[in-house]
Amino acid sequence: MLACSLAKEGAFSLPLSRIRIIRHEEIAEFTPKVCVQCSDASCITACPVGALSRNADTGAINLDRDACMGCRQCVTACPYGGVQFDPIRNIPLICDLCGGAPACVEACQLPQAIRYVQYASKEA
Ligand code: SF4
Ligand code: SF4
Repeated sequence: MLACSLAKEGAFSLPLSRIRIIRHEEIAEFTPKVCVQCSDASCITACPVGALSRNADTGAINLDRDACMGCRQCVTACPYGGVQFDPIRNIPLICDLCGGAPACVEACQLPQAIRYVQYASKEA
């Protein structure tokens, strides 16, 4: 989470991370919540102003900040809890795969719990 916020926002800030780790410390369980890059992305469909689109090169979701009106419908539409929201700037925080070089993957040297695997075509 810190690697993500540093890469995307230039700051160590857990609330600004695109990836979230839900901690259930009483049972020693840690659940990651992150964009899974759906081929049929509910967030894109839900956006009423077309502020979300598919990056043709990486396949990730791109946000047009100027078009976004902060309605949070993309947050609600994601079935994986993969879209976060920044209430200060009133914009969603969506993983863009760091342009194809994910900082979170780079940070998880051990135990390499996060891996970057391309499993769908860019056209999907
Ligand atoms: S918060 Fe922005 S990107 Fe998300 S659905 Fe609303 S207008 Fe679209
Ligand atoms: S790929 Fe980049 S934007 Fe996506 S969760 Fe990892 S660090 Fe954040």
